[in-house]
Amino acid sequence: TLGITWVTDWIRLSARVIAEHRVELITLDREIGDGDHGENLDRGFSAVIVKLDALPADALPGDALKLVATTLISTVGGASGPLVGTAFLKAAQAAGKEAELDGAAIVALLTAARDGVVLRGKAAVGDKTMIDAWSPAVDAATAAEADGKSEPEILLAAADAAEKGAESTEPLVAHKGRASYLGERAIGHRDPGSQSSALMLRAASDAAQ
Ligand code: ADP
Ligand code: MG
Ligand code: MG
Repeated sequence: TLGITWVTDWIRLSARVIAEHRVELITLDREIGDGDHGENLDRGFSAVIVKLDALPADALPGDALKLVATTLISTVGGASGPLVGTAFLKAAQAAGKEAELDGAAIVALLTAARDGVVLRGKAAVGDKTMIDAWSPAVDAATAAEADGKSEPEILLAAADAAEKGAESTEPLVAHKGRASYLGERAIGHRDPGSQSSALMLRAASDAAQ
């Protein structure tokens, strides 16, 4: 099972990879959006890291996830703040008061996160959004869990699928978000939100290995 150490490692690693890929995410968003995605998420995760140090020693996975959610919702502007914030909020609710998460609980957490983004943003797979990373990740995690795989293996399957999902947005026309204003001109560019989601899901896996 995975507990608070996994969650806090996931959060710290997410903050680090978002900072490392800040310029890349800005460039992707400059191509089909307004060029602030890397800035938005980096600001949010920097604020999260500051607050994470104040988390009590007996904090539960759900407490840490909730902290990420409320911080992202209040510090990240744009479309992605409320959406990624909702993902972490739903993940926190799915984790509940559990101290240790088994494979089924991790699948439930990822599923709740994805479903929360869908409910809030109304995007479907193929709309060229972060859902194109989240949904295949949830599917892969679900299949891995059904196969009796370990928690790190489940998260690895999710991360691999999210990366493929982000790549799959390149030939698409966008149907949600700013990129949808571009019509066919969005073709050939990767969706920035799918890329950042793939980075966060890779961080979740790396934190578990
Ligand atoms: P903004 O577009 O307001 O500048 P960001 O640049 O931070 O916000 O985030 C853009 C990303 O948000 C997109 O690349 C896309 O993945 C995601 N996004 C936008 N709208 C939606 C939506 N309705 N559902 C899911 N994801 C969305
Ligand atoms: Mg933007
Ligand atoms: Mg913006």
